[in-house]
Amino acid sequence: MENYSFDIFNQEQHQCLSHREGDWIIFHCPICKDYERRINWKTREVKVRRGSSTAAHAGSHAPVSSDVENFSIN
Ligand SMILES: [Zn+2]
Repeated sequence: MENYSFDIFNQEQHQCLSHREGDWIIFHCPICKDYERRINWKTREVKVRRGSSTAAHAGSHAPVSSDVENFSIN
């Protein structure tokens, strides 16, 4: 039995959890305690605090109220 590894799988990707605080949608990683990404859905301002994490992070936020219907992560 041989083990094969592919470089693409060596890149960790963490799925972030999101919640909303006022104008900000805040993503935080359940694995990296010091990782945080926040997006202002009004101004589209993005703030990222990577902490000591080197992993890639992904996250999505499903708007639950009509006032964020224009929100886009792009
Ligand atoms: Zn993480």
